[in-house]
Amino acid sequence: MAETISGAWVLQRRPSGRISKDDYKWVERRLPEPAAGQVLVRTIYLSLDPTNRIWASDMVQYMPPVELGEVMRGGTLGVVEASAHDGFSPGDIVQGMWGWQSHHLAEQGEGLTKLPSLPGVPLDAFMSVLGATGMTAYFGLLDIGKPQPGETVVVSAAAGAVGSIVGQIAKIKGCRAVGLAGSDDKCEHLTRDLGFDAAINYKTADLDAALREACPDGIDVYFENTGGPITDAVLKQVNLEARMPLCGLISHYNEFDGTNGVRGPNNYEQVLMKRVLIKGYIIIDYLDRFAEGMAEMGQWFAEGKLHYRTDIVDGLENAVDAVNRLFDGANTGKLLVRCSPEP
Ligand code: NDP
Repeated sequence: MAETISGAWVLQRRPSGRISKDDYKWVERRLPEPAAGQVLVRTIYLSLDPTNRIWASDMVQYMPPVELGEVMRGGTLGVVEASAHDGFSPGDIVQGMWGWQSHHLAEQGEGLTKLPSLPGVPLDAFMSVLGATGMTAYFGLLDIGKPQPGETVVVSAAAGAVGSIVGQIAKIKGCRAVGLAGSDDKCEHLTRDLGFDAAINYKTADLDAALREACPDGIDVYFENTGGPITDAVLKQVNLEARMPLCGLISHYNEFDGTNGVRGPNNYEQVLMKRVLIKGYIIIDYLDRFAEGMAEMGQWFAEGKLHYRTDIVDGLENAVDAVNRLFDGANTGKLLVRCSPEP
């Protein structure tokens, strides 16, 4: 086997505001043939996530920050190209967190999870609806939001990776699903393709009036992805004992510089008046329940009740520019980088 050149994006400076290309450096290194116990993987898909901005900062967070000089962290899916490990063979499709690099040499196959070959299930589904994204929507909504039939569920960043799945699960559970998104096209996608009952373009609508119209019986569950003015508007219309799974606060992430935190909602008192349950969670909290979530999500997917969209940028060299699509609202569905072709 010929020597492999692996290209990687290494963090060289903590971002200030938006991520910029100068925060990262492109580094290439030669990888030898796998020695005993090693597995060589070629990256096919890299997940780009709002949390990339958090990991690149040195604020107190749920995992150690990515260190300067380290390969940027990221969820990945790839194919085994060569293996000197009994548990892996060339052609196996594996998932892991080997980050923003074109190839990865795993010691003892550590951190690699082999994916089953499921006929009719495209590989990118494992990076979205049937991956961590789907699990984030599933456990946040069902375990914390506890939606009951007939209740109204509102979700922000609704046309994005997590939000688009949240609304569909709300519908499966017999709820009214209302999405907030940043363009008319996204809103149309939510109601036309994904079965949301209503969608609001939060950039152009009078939010208070639009929420009143879309949620005539008030709001029972608010799936929080954004923070900011959307949260203030929702809190004005929540029902008594509403639940608020706190999944993300993307409107604040570009302000994180290690010391800045998030300013709370302007009308925090409504949490008290309406006895709202707010619970933050990180999907890794649910790792030991993934099998349960995957079983039910897989069933709904097979029955055609769950649809997903991936927004794919070609070329690992474009990853740094592409991550800002999340903050510009340029993506619809799960944002991925295709680093190399599927086998
Ligand atoms: P998305 O695919 O939803 O992409 C982000 C979207 O956020 C954009 O497309 C944009 O859509 C919207 N957005 C960006 N800036 C703002 C803003 N200032 N105000 C309102 N909306 C904004 O990403 P994900 O689905 O991966 O993530 C959604 C949220 O879930 C994030 O907060 C993320 O951190 C969180 N998350 C949390 C996890 C956990 O374990 N707790 C796991 C995964 C994600 P638009 O056009 O509508 O503005």
